[in-house]
Amino acid sequence: MIYVVGHKNPDTDSICSAIAYAELKKKLGIEAKPARQGDPNPETKFVLEKFNVELPEILTDGSNKKVILIDHSDVAQSLDNLDKAEIVEIIDHHKIGDITTPNPIFFLAMPVGCTATVVKTLYDYFEVEIDKKIAGILLSAILSDTVIFKSATTTEKDVKAAEELAEIAEVEDIRSLGIEIKSKLSAIDKLTAREIIKRDFKDFDMSGNRVGIGQIELVDLNIIKDRKEEIIRDMEKLKREGGYHSVFLMLTDIINEGTELLVVTDDPAIVKKAFGKNLDGNSIWLKKVMSRKKQVVPPLEKAFSY
Ligand code: MG
Ligand code: MG
Ligand code: MG
Repeated sequence: MIYVVGHKNPDTDSICSAIAYAELKKKLGIEAKPARQGDPNPETKFVLEKFNVELPEILTDGSNKKVILIDHSDVAQSLDNLDKAEIVEIIDHHKIGDITTPNPIFFLAMPVGCTATVVKTLYDYFEVEIDKKIAGILLSAILSDTVIFKSATTTEKDVKAAEELAEIAEVEDIRSLGIEIKSKLSAIDKLTAREIIKRDFKDFDMSGNRVGIGQIELVDLNIIKDRKEEIIRDMEKLKREGGYHSVFLMLTDIINEGTELLVVTDDPAIVKKAFGKNLDGNSIWLKKVMSRKKQVVPPLEKAFSY
C-alpha cells in the first residue's frame, strides 16, 4: 500500500490533491490511499462536505511506509521518521526542498499555482477520466491556493485546469465558489492566537536558522485588528518555545490584495534586507504580496544567505 500524503498543517490543496492523486493511482491499478498529517481547516472541511468526499485517514509517521509526498518536498513539513519511509514519488508546485532519496523516483514539480493543477495534468497525461467529485475538490484546491486566481503564483495552466474541472464538476460560477471557499477561513473569532498563527504555518531552515512563516487569508483585515497585540505576544512565545530565529505571520487581505507581515525576530535588519522596508513596531505592509512561496520565502532566504 502506498500512502499519498500532503504537508503538515494541511491546507485544502495538500488534502484534496492527495485524495485525487491516490484515486488516479487506483485507476492505474496501483494500491494507494490518501492520508493527511493533521486536522483539516474549516475551508477544507467545507470543500469535502460540499463535494461529498470522505476525509482521509491520519498519517504522521513515515516508518516502514511507502509514501508519495504531495504539495511539499521539505523535510520540516513532511512525515516524522521520513528517513525510515520509502518515498516513491513527489508531486509538488513549490521550490525543490531538502528531501533526498537513495533511489531515483518520479518527481514532478511544476511552477504553477496549485498541486491540484499538477494532478490534473497527470490525469490528462495518463488519459484517465476525472470523477465529478474529484473535479470539485481539485477545482476548490486551485481556487484556494491561487486565492481565486489573484495570487502571483497563478498561471494560465491553473486557470485552464480550473475551467475544465468546473465543467466536469458542473460548477457554473467559479468565482462565487471561490469566495464561498475563502470566506470559511475568515472566521477567526473562535480561534486562539496560537490557532491563528498555526492555521497555515510552515517551518523553514534558512541558512541554518529556524524560521516559521504562517499565513492567514482574510476578506477584511479589520477582522483581526483588535487581536494583533495578543497574536504578537503569542508569536514571541512560540519563538522561544520552538527556538526560532524568526516567526512571521502574513495577514493577507484577499480583497485589497496585500499582506500585513507580523514579525518577531532576533534580527530586525533581516526584514529590511528582504523587503526593503523597516519594521514599524512588529509589522510591515507589503502591497500586492499574497504568496508566501513566491513573494515572502525567496526574499527571506536571500536575506538570510548573506
Ligand atoms: Mg499547501
Ligand atoms: Mg499547494
Ligand atoms: Mg497555501
